[in-house]
Amino acid sequence: MTTQDFLTENNLDWEHFEDVECGLHSNIPSCCIIFYCVFWKPHIMTSNYLENEYWKKVNSGKFKYVPCPDCEISGKNVKIKKCECWKRNPNARLIGQDEDGLDLVEFVEDASC
Ligand SMILES: [Zn+2]
Ligand SMILES: [Zn+2]
Repeated sequence: MTTQDFLTENNLDWEHFEDVECGLHSNIPSCCIIFYCVFWKPHIMTSNYLENEYWKKVNSGKFKYVPCPDCEISGKNVKIKKCECWKRNPNARLIGQDEDGLDLVEFVEDASC
């Protein structure tokens, strides 16, 4: 499925294009991509997600992405595919690879503004 089709079928705004595109590349389940766009991203932009109980639960090392609550409960956990979209972001730099060979990327602050 293309990113455009995914956005249209799920009534997602165009602003989610990059997140959806990367989610599809990475093999993340559709339900979790939608959860990320509709609930998770707005939440982390307005609050300290590190203090969030759900984040603490899903960040225990089992998941490599933010699962939707249904997948968290059922334990559905897909193996993430390597995605190199981060290379398009001038503020991203590679800091290593994890045990599955996935790129670990750090985002540095944009100093130009
Ligand atoms: Zn990607
Ligand atoms: Zn899910």
